[in-house]
Amino acid sequence: MFMASIKAKMILYLALNLFTFTKANYYYWEQGSDWNGQCVNGTLQSPIDIPEALFWNPLAKVTSEELHGMDIESKIVWTRRLDFFASYANFENKTISSDDQNSIKVDFDKGSLVFMDETAALRIFQLKQFHFHAPSEHTFNNRTKHYDLELHLVHQRWDEDYQNELAVLGVFFDMKAGGNETNPFIESMNVKNMVNDKGETQFVDLTALVDNLNKTKGLFHYNGSLTTPPCTQSVHWIVVDDPQPITYEQLALFKKNWQYNTTFAGGLGNNRDVQPVNQRIIYKRWWTQAYNIVLLGTSSIAIALTLSMF
Ligand SMILES: [Zn+2]
Repeated sequence: MFMASIKAKMILYLALNLFTFTKANYYYWEQGSDWNGQCVNGTLQSPIDIPEALFWNPLAKVTSEELHGMDIESKIVWTRRLDFFASYANFENKTISSDDQNSIKVDFDKGSLVFMDETAALRIFQLKQFHFHAPSEHTFNNRTKHYDLELHLVHQRWDEDYQNELAVLGVFFDMKAGGNETNPFIESMNVKNMVNDKGETQFVDLTALVDNLNKTKGLFHYNGSLTTPPCTQSVHWIVVDDPQPITYEQLALFKKNWQYNTTFAGGLGNNRDVQPVNQRIIYKRWWTQAYNIVLLGTSSIAIALTLSMF
């Protein structure tokens, strides 16, 4: 009798799991505060709150040497050098899945990103995957501003000796700030028809998104971590300060499965809480065009760097 009861429970458990997402190995019930390892011990964690309002005066720029030990208001530096150029191929027949319950993820293997940091050092990365968080993970102005959705395009450094280095391009989508318009990239994934963790095969149209991003001159940059366990601290964050349009209908699946789903994380969403900035500096791109980075061909690593208006 006892064994039969256990068996019945196991069958019930298995049956329930067949109709739910694949089991995740971390959860958002406490917005990440219960994760361990570097997630709790690290001092270079992501996401962060960006004190955007303090960037009002470009003349307030000081050198990074002068900044250490100063308060948050001095940890913000304008730079003319910050820039990136993304070159992603469109994909037919990519599998879109909510692989571990925590997000929608797409694995990609054809796309490159050239990033120039505040010291004008150039690094080349390869796109590995992208996924979404709703609401946004990065916040602004003491958490008073969250965007509707944040896309993370995750890249790995091209050079064999530095493949532990990652670059994540963070892109916001927001009905108010970006406009209530159909976004062709989101639409191409047809996520609204996705059912639980069944991988849907779709054409993924990154062209329009990338064209927009490469024109974007509003950028923040800081060094941080993955925002999911193991929270590895080797990420060059490039946060695009130019929210993209999206409609309520396009947001519906993200809201339904994460942000407004009380059985997922009490309806809080799949965003980790913001982390202390500590001694880090947040860089913002100077508003004038200083450099143009051109990547010659999607598989080529040749770069043409031209200087203008400096
Ligand atoms: Zn992410």
